[in-house]
This record gives sequence, structure tokens and C-alpha cells, in this order.
Amino acid sequence: MRLPLVLLWLGAATACGPGRGFTRRHGPRRITPLVFNQHDPNISENSKSASGPPEGRITREDEKFRDLVPNYNPDIDFKDDEGTGADRLMTQRCKEKLNTLAISVMNQWPGVRLRVIEGWDEENSHQDNSLHYEGRAVDLTTSDRDRSKYGMLARLAVEAGFDWVFYESRSYIHCSVKTESSVGTGAGCFPSGSIVHTEEGPRDIAVLKKGDRILAAADDGKMVYSEVLTFIDRDPNVTRQYIEVTAENGVTITTTPSHLLLLAAADSWRESFAMNIEVGDVLLTRGHGSVMRPSRVVKTRMVSRKGVYAPLTKTGTIIVDDALASCYALVRSHALAHAAMAPLRWMADWTSSNEVSRGVHWYAKALYNVGDYVLPSSYKYH
Ligand SMILES: [Zn+2]
Repeated sequence: MRLPLVLLWLGAATACGPGRGFTRRHGPRRITPLVFNQHDPNISENSKSASGPPEGRITREDEKFRDLVPNYNPDIDFKDDEGTGADRLMTQRCKEKLNTLAISVMNQWPGVRLRVIEGWDEENSHQDNSLHYEGRAVDLTTSDRDRSKYGMLARLAVEAGFDWVFYESRSYIHCSVKTESSVGTGAGCFPSGSIVHTEEGPRDIAVLKKGDRILAAADDGKMVYSEVLTFIDRDPNVTRQYIEVTAENGVTITTTPSHLLLLAAADSWRESFAMNIEVGDVLLTRGHGSVMRPSRVVKTRMVSRKGVYAPLTKTGTIIVDDALASCYALVRSHALAHAAMAPLRWMADWTSSNEVSRGVHWYAKALYNVGDYVLPSSYKYH
């Protein structure tokens, strides 16, 4: 069976991903729970298209231990039965997926949170070669420990971008991710100095706060003010490579290459990664009233800029520097199998504000095409 659309929530900014073949779908998402003992994808955890082979245990004395990051997401419960905080330690990728899943869980079951019962294991309590020893696996439940939810929890984990999800036990699900080096990390969004529009007027994205209402686009393509729900990424101190896209009417948007921009298309808009934008594509720019104005791209170039900001708005869109962009990006494709021939892949990043962001790595030379993706426009935050 071909899995249905599996794009979720990650920051556009971050994310990464292959860039073509997006289709926008309307209507509610239909997602099916995993059944007990099912794993997704339906291949072994250690296969390359899933989380990949084990690369060896990480101990506290290890060099690699520094690559594990603590997760203090207040929306996630950590069992920490070892009392060492080890369950909070994980790879950056694992943390990103987990934080994404935490949002989905709150969405799916208001009042319920994601709960981690096992993370990094330094005590030998898993079988040999377990990815828990590398901080690449987590065992999860919901905070209410309602077992009837775990099949759906597993599905949400798949959608959140975990590379392998296993409904392993009636009492928890096991999720794991690829190594950082096998995917690379990317991050970002918009640099300091990017301008967003609040109801009170233009603002530097760097001073934007959660709860502010900024100009965005609704599903029908009309401009509306939309609340900033959170920041997927926010780091004033990092310098990144950005793509500057300039349109005929002078609008210039600066964004990370893996960020999705929303371009004019016959029926409303289409998504494109900034790095795939070509001269002649048509940006949607801030117009008068509620109507956006299309303007043809005349130039793109790479620039280095300081600061990384990725606000997530309620509509999932954002008008930055007078051009329309998505707040989302894909976090998983069912075309992972193509990854081998598709060395160019950006991965999402979910760095919190107090954390030093990782560098951005290009791992490839060509894009790979993907099949069905969908913007979670029907995916309500509340
Ligand atoms: Zn596990």
C-alpha cells in the first residue's frame, strides 16, 4: 500500500527536502493508526531507508556524547526512571522529530501530552545494537497512558518524520531516526532584518513575539493577519547561507534554500523550495487590500546573513519582505527509497532559542523528485 501524504509540520524553514512535485490538497487529512506490531516503513529498522545501521554505543566519555542534546520541551513528559536525565538526551534529529510529534499529540488529543519513557540508554537495558545506545531512539506513550491511543500515536510519529516507527509493545511505541551525518542538518528560515507586517506596521522579524499577529495568507490566497504560535527556530547569533530571490516589482525575499516559498499558479499557489526557484517563476507579493500581487522572479543569488528566525503562524503561511512563504516544510517523504540517487537533501531543524544551532551541510548534488506532499492546511493547531 502506498502511504498517504506524509508531510507534517516542520518548519519550513528548516526543512528540507526535496523539492518538486508538490501538490496541494484540500479537505481533512485521513490518517490510519498503526496496528500492534506494525512498523513503518515496512522494512527493518537498520536498513538504510529506515534509521540505518547502528554506529556504536555512545557513552558519557565519548567524543560523540557532545552531539547528544538535552530536550527540555515543556510540552513533553519525561519519565526519567533512571533519575539521570538520560531520557532527555538524544540526537538533534531525534529531538526535532520528537518536538514535532509533541505538537501533533496536543492537537490530536487536547489536554494530552507526549511522554518519553526511554531515550538514550547508558545502562545496557536494551538488546545489542539498539539505537537507544546512540540517542537515536525513544520509547513513547501519551501522558494519560491510554493504550488505545498508541496506534494513532505511532501514526503521528510517522508523520512527524521519525525514520522508523514500531508499535513494539502494548504499552509503548518505539521510534528511531537516522544519524545526523546520514541526512545532514539544515536550518533556518529568515535572517535578522527581514520585515514582517503586524497590524501596527512593519517589524523586524527579530523582535517578533509569540502571539503577535502578522500578515500571512489564508487558504483562499487572501492576505490576513495570523497569530504567531511559536518559533520553530530562533537564533540571532548564527550566520547562514541564504537565497535572495528578487522579483520584477523590487520585492526581495531572503530565505534558507530549503524553505518553501509559495508561488503563483493557475489555481492559487504552488510550493517550491527556495533553491528550486528559477527566473521566470512568479512570487506572490504583498498587494493592496487583501489581494496578493504576482511578480516574476528576475534574480536569485546566495548571500550570507546573520540570524535565523522561523515563526510558525496559525495559517501556516507568512509574508516576509513582502513575499509569501510557507511556515512548513516536509519532514518525511515516502520517496525515501529514492534517496540513494538523491544526494541533495536538506533536513529539518528544530533548534530552540537557547541552543547553538548546527551547521548546514549539503550532502548532495541533485534533487530528487517526490510524489505526494500536502501542506497541512487543514491541520488545526487548536
Ligand atoms: Zn525502544
